Amino acid sequence: MRFRSYMDEALAEARAAGARGEVPVGAVIVSPSGAVVARAGNRTRELSDPTAHAEVLALRAACAEAGSDRLPGHDLYVTLEPCPMCAAAISFARLARVYYGASDPKSGGVEQGPRVFSHPQCHHVPELYDGIAAKESAALLQEFFRERRT
Ligand SMILES: [Zn+2]
Repeated sequence: MRFRSYMDEALAEARAAGARGEVPVGAVIVSPSGAVVARAGNRTRELSDPTAHAEVLALRAACAEAGSDRLPGHDLYVTLEPCPMCAAAISFARLARVYYGASDPKSGGVEQGPRVFSHPQCHHVPELYDGIAAKESAALLQEFFRERRT
């Protein structure tokens, strides 16, 4: 089976989040059969909820749909390196693979900061693939924060 990236769908969610005035980060979760079971963008402002990151919202929707707090065999595509909170949630959900776009030196928790998946207390480590459409993902964020500052 040929590898198919779902990062375009995640980028579409990121753009939609930006259009709502949210930090433009998007995520989709794909089932083992290749179906998109959840898609989400950041909604922290809209929901007045600091935990409403794209990954968390996608995990909640996919788990509700599956009727389970675990999603074995599922993949997550997210436009930005997950923060420590999201990395922990990804581990709890037992996701098989995480594909992410841009690195996040400021708030990332995978390859920097607490490096959640390398921590001995992390009981499930997904396969990690970084740098997928990293340029597009980073450009969205840069544009968003540039517009905020002016
Ligand atoms: Zn997060």
